[in-house]
Amino acid sequence: MRIGTGWDLHRLVSARTLILGGVVIPSDKGEAAHSDGDVLIHAIIDALLGSLAKGDIGSHFPDTDPAYKDADSIQLLKKVLTEDLPPHRIENIDTTIILQRPKLRPYIEAIRESLANVLGLELHQVSVKAKTAEGILGELGSGDAVIAQASVLIS
Ligand code: MG
Repeated sequence: MRIGTGWDLHRLVSARTLILGGVVIPSDKGEAAHSDGDVLIHAIIDALLGSLAKGDIGSHFPDTDPAYKDADSIQLLKKVLTEDLPPHRIENIDTTIILQRPKLRPYIEAIRESLANVLGLELHQVSVKAKTAEGILGELGSGDAVIAQASVLIS
């Protein structure tokens, strides 16, 4: 067994799509990023690479590389799953999203299903939790940033 943790932060700006775990969330702001900015997928990629002691998302997919401009983060995750993870397999994943608004409760099951689908897991192996920033912590509390954390156990 090996464990890994991942963490990511993105600024939220207008005229961008808010995408979390491959699910588009209705919102007036989305993640500013070189890629599609899916902060949850980025945290999961870092957790997986961390569990393997294989560096981080920036070393695998540099944001200075034009190849990753507006990249679909799910495709980056699939690359890690096929090229880096074997012969290991994922036992479970636990994640937390910190977002002031919109409230994510209506979307949690869709995000879990999306993650289970891409990770090749059953729903009981995929946990997605969400909380607000209680209106504090600067940009996070004012709804101008989003954070995601992920922990993964592989065997
Ligand atoms: Mg990121």
